Order: sequence, then structure tokens, then C-alpha cells
Amino acid sequence: MTMLSEIKTFSKPLIANLNKLGIQTVQALLLHLPLRYIDETHLTEVRDLRVGEAAQVEGEIVYAEVSYKPRKVLIARLEDATGQFTLRFLHFYPSQITTLKVGNKLRVYGEVRSGYYGYEMVHPTCKAVGERTFVAETLTPIYPTVAGLTQGALRKAIDIALKQNVLKETLPANIYQKFKLPSFSSSLQALHNPPPHVDLQALENKATPEWQRLAFDELLAQQLSMRKHYARRRSVDAPKFSASKQLVSSLLKTLPFVLTQAQQKVAVEIEFDLRQPHPMQRLLQGDVGSGKTIVACMTALQSIESGWQVALMAPTEILAEQHYQKMLIWLTPLNIQIAWLTGGQSKKDREYAMRDISNGSAQLIVGTHALFQEAVQFKKLGLAIIDEQHRFGVQQRLALRQKGQPEPHQLMMTATPIPRTLSMSYYADLDVSVIDELPPGRTPIVTKLVSDARRDEILQRVRESCAEGHQAYWVCPLIEESEALQLATANDTYVLMQNEFPELKIGLVHGRMKAAEKQSVMAAFSAGDLQLLVATTVIEVGVDVPNASLMVIEHAERMGLSQLHQLRGRVGRGAAKSTCILLYQNKLSETARARLKVIYETNDGFAIAQADLNLRGPGEFLGVRQSGVPMLKIADLNRDVELLEAARAIAEKLLKEYPAEVEQHLDRWMVGASQLVKV
Ligand code: ADP
Ligand code: MG
Repeated sequence: MTMLSEIKTFSKPLIANLNKLGIQTVQALLLHLPLRYIDETHLTEVRDLRVGEAAQVEGEIVYAEVSYKPRKVLIARLEDATGQFTLRFLHFYPSQITTLKVGNKLRVYGEVRSGYYGYEMVHPTCKAVGERTFVAETLTPIYPTVAGLTQGALRKAIDIALKQNVLKETLPANIYQKFKLPSFSSSLQALHNPPPHVDLQALENKATPEWQRLAFDELLAQQLSMRKHYARRRSVDAPKFSASKQLVSSLLKTLPFVLTQAQQKVAVEIEFDLRQPHPMQRLLQGDVGSGKTIVACMTALQSIESGWQVALMAPTEILAEQHYQKMLIWLTPLNIQIAWLTGGQSKKDREYAMRDISNGSAQLIVGTHALFQEAVQFKKLGLAIIDEQHRFGVQQRLALRQKGQPEPHQLMMTATPIPRTLSMSYYADLDVSVIDELPPGRTPIVTKLVSDARRDEILQRVRESCAEGHQAYWVCPLIEESEALQLATANDTYVLMQNEFPELKIGLVHGRMKAAEKQSVMAAFSAGDLQLLVATTVIEVGVDVPNASLMVIEHAERMGLSQLHQLRGRVGRGAAKSTCILLYQNKLSETARARLKVIYETNDGFAIAQADLNLRGPGEFLGVRQSGVPMLKIADLNRDVELLEAARAIAEKLLKEYPAEVEQHLDRWMVGASQLVKV
């Protein structure tokens, strides 16, 4: 790697600014790619301007005026030999008033719009026409930058870097040619200095062969890294489990139901993994209510029967508590010792739990992310089960893995189905099992989209439903910006409901309550002592109260689709016909309506997840902000599916036949250009 300081013409301040952009090396500078481009390669005459197209025009200012009513605006008219049009500035500096004086000759660049006085450009870039203005030979790249580093200085630095010849091709030519992609260095040349005839639209959509080559490289790096990760896992030892299944069959005998075909199928897949000499890393995917918990319990028993401890972890205290209760019911008859560990418990309880975990008397430990903490020492951890895995970060998962020696088996569960492109990319190192059928006897949930203006009818509906002996959830509006506001809203809603329904027993649960309080409210709701539960989205995951058959979600338009689907999955768990009412504030935008339409038109978690991914992108979908999942910068999983498939198809061959190139490729993409992390 060539450091920036090795280039003599780079000044210290320039290097400092580049460092601020995260650029340390010449290689990284070259991989600092344009956000967009502008076409200053030719001038357009005023009569040839077209609405919606960007253009560069040269002419003379024939009118300029700042007006203050109704609001401050600077309006000017630019004229050339063929006509005139308007320049409009809603914010401007005093220097711009000087630039836009009548009589000045200017070159302006901007997008043409149709305005009140004919064509106009809003906030065009303006340059005085002097002796030194010339038409650019290539499209002008616009880079992400920091204050103090101008586009011009950045461009110049990149031009110098391009002449250093520091970029090696990492792929064999026959491989990239096979996919009709250009070489790496010619791609970079063209992206930093695209020739004038290039289709600007294609360039901005990253659809040119050069962008595609870089997207391919990035996807390939991801694939290679995942494969290596997968191979590494196959080379390490796992806890050995014996084949006996005494406990599992005892458990199955006590259940009030029989397993569905789908549950049996995934149980077999898991059992197979547990017999392998290397640790399992399996993702168990199944829509809400498909019955993942019993499968987790069966898996746990196989570990326990072989003398290994099991950690069962859930993302919220409510859910962890519920698992704990369920495990007590299922496993106490089998004489299994269960411990409980969360952040919210008393110091004393915690100490007992820690003691039982470290001396091995606790066979199953249920808890929240408190289980990750360093102080928690397992005697002999053989299996980690992680519920709602998408709620946990990669780092947290790794931390739990390190709690056992040898590396424990891992079973991850999720109710958010993973769209195909994601499972081919971010989840490529995992094995996946799918529970694709719901237990029998469930009546499908009816979903209704109702305007908040009809709130009275909905309240009436809640009243009737509770009078018939059913239970209901009322989900408060989501307020992401402020936890304090969220809390206030939850409390307000609770008071409103108490006034509205003096005859009902009503509970409140939200994220800021003490663990013990939350537990007692949930327990009361579970037991039927409460009829209506006012809740924030803390109940989104996993909560299982079969008698609850009505859910009202306020401000549904603020929530993500997968989130709504999860929430809705809290009802429809028993035999009664269930309804989910999505209340929205008046005047839904077109896009908001389209989003909500997906939810009320389908109960298919897969279709919803795919729509959610399309609408929000993988970052939001995976909850990257919390999870630290490394993101793709150039490739786009919607646009570049073919490249993803190509990269996937070729990764194995490269690893076998070109190991040295693979290392170079990973070095480039895992450190320099992308935020991908080497695993
Ligand atoms: P999820 O997959 O959303 O975690 P759960 O494991 O909570 O779903 O299961 C939902 C409900 O269905 C629970 O009450 C569970 O006991 C019940 N259940 C699980 N498997 C079956 C089955 N095969 N037949 C009937 N009910 C089942
Ligand atoms: Mg669950």
C-alpha cells in the first residue's frame, strides 16, 4: 500500500483532509468514487433547454432583483443569442448578488424546470465567464468531501493518484471477461474521468460496465469472505453430542399437540448438524406463530442430555421471561435445572444465577443480552440459541460463541423471512432451515386499514370484543426521535383508555418499565386478569397470548412493514377469529398508502419482507445501525442480482485456483474501499 505522504506533491493540509474522509493510502483515494457527475462538456443554447435535463448555458445577466415578499428570493434572467430564462435562489450569499449583477457574463449549470415565468434553474452553479473558462473534456465528477476540501482539489489529487500506477488487477482476465466486464484499472479511469459521450443516466444509475465491474468486485469480496468463514467453521471442533434422544421423546409425549411436518423436517436438519464434528450455525426461519420455540427446546435437550449447557437468549426481557416460563412448564417435569439471567434482576438473584451457570448446576440458561457479558462464565456451554437473531448485532453473536470451548453450536431463529438476495449475501455463511407451515387450527388474521377519524367505531369494537371474553392489544404510536416522548405517549394512551373503558381491566407495558413490573403486567395479561393491554412496540417480538384476538395499532404509517407484520403476529394465535386494525392519520401519502397496502393484502411474511427490503433497502431492513452489519457501498442488491449470482458462482473456483489473487482482492475490498469486515 502506498501512503498518501509518499506522494511529494500532496501537502500536509490536503493529506489531513483526506484522512478525515477515511483515506490513508493512494489505493483508498482511487477508490473514493464520485457520488454523481455533471456534464460541462458542452454549452446548450437557451432555445434548446429541456425541462428535467441538466444543462450548461452561457449568457449575460439582463435582470436581477432581490425581493422579500412573500419570502426572500433572488431572481435573475440570463440571456444568450437565442432567448432568456430565470435563475432563482432561495438562499444566497451577498457575494452571489455581486456575481449576478446586470451586465455580467456568466456560465451557469443546473437542472431546467418549468417555472412561473417559463424555464428556470433553481440554485444553479454560476461561474463568471473570463479568459480562463473552457469547456470540460470529460464529465465532471462530484465526490463526497469534507469542509475545507474543494471538489477541484480532490479531483486534482485523484488525477495525480491515477498516474501512480498502484492498482493491480486482482482477477484473472478470463474471469472478468467472461462476465463482459472491463479491467479494474480501466474502470477506475473511466469512473473518475468519464468520456463525454457516456450516457449520464447510466453512469448515475451505476449501470455502466465500469460501475458494474466495481460492484462485482465488492460482491465477490463479500462472497469470498463468507466462504472462507464457512470453511473456517468446518475446520474447528464442536462439542460432541451423543445420539440418545431420551429427553426429546419424553418431552414430545407431554405436549398437547403434535409437531407439524415442517417442524419435524427442521428438527431433522438440526439433529444432523449436531452430529457433525464442527459447530452448527443454523438459521431457523419461520413466520410468526409457526412454532419455533418447541424446536429450540428439542435442540436444547440434545445438548443437555449429552452433558452440555445451553444458553437461550432473547432480545427483550418480556420475551426472555416468556421463554423462561415456557421452559419451566416443558422442562421441569424432566428434572432440568433452568437459570434466569437479565439486566433487570436483583443483585442477589443475579449472583445465584451466575454461580449456577459457572458450577454447571444450571443446565439451561434463559436470558437477555446479559448473557453476553464478560462476567458470565459457563461451565460447559455446548449450544447457544438466539431468538429473533436479527435484533442482535454480529459482535454480540460472536461474543456468545466465545463463551464455550470448543466453540458451541448455534441456532439462530428469526420470524423475519430473509429475502433471497440477502440470504445469498449477508447470510451466505449460515445454513438455513425454514418452517413453512403454521400449526393447524389457526384462523387467518383479518387486517383493516382505518382512518383515525373513525376512532370511535374502533373503540366500540374493543369494548365488544373484551365483553365477549377476548383480550386486546392497543399499540401506541411509535416515536423514534425521543424516548421521553414515547414514554409520555404511552402513559397518555393508558390514561385515555382508562377513561374510555372504566369497566375494563387495563394494563400498560413499555420499554422503560422495570423488568419485574413488565413481567407482572405480562403475566396478568397472559393469565387473563387484564383484558386490554396498552403497549409500545416492545411487544413486537414473540409475545404469545392465544386468547388475545384484537390488535389496534395507532399511527401504523410510521412503522416498518416487517415490524407491523411482527406486531400483528401477536394475535391469531388461538382458535378465535382475529383482527388487526391499522389506524392511520388522515391524508396518507401515496407511498405510505402503497406500503400499508402490502400489509393488509397479504399475510405472507416473505412477500412482506421482500417489499420491505425494496422500500427501505438492506441497511434499514437488517437494522444495520444497531447490528454493525457491514454494508455494500457500490453494489445494490435489487439492481445487481445478476452480478451477485455471478460472484457467488465464481467464488469457489477462485478460492481453489487463485488463492493469492483472492487474498489481494480481499485486502483491497475489506480494508480500503468498503466497510466490509473480514470475518
Ligand atoms: P414462533 O415461531 O412465532 O416463535 P411459538 O413457538 O411461540 O411461535 O409458537 C406459537 C404457538 O403455537 C405456541 O403457543 C406454541 O405452543 C404453539 N405450537 C407450536 N407448535 C405447535 C403445533 N405443532 N401444533 C399446535 N400448536 C403449536
Ligand atoms: Mg418466537
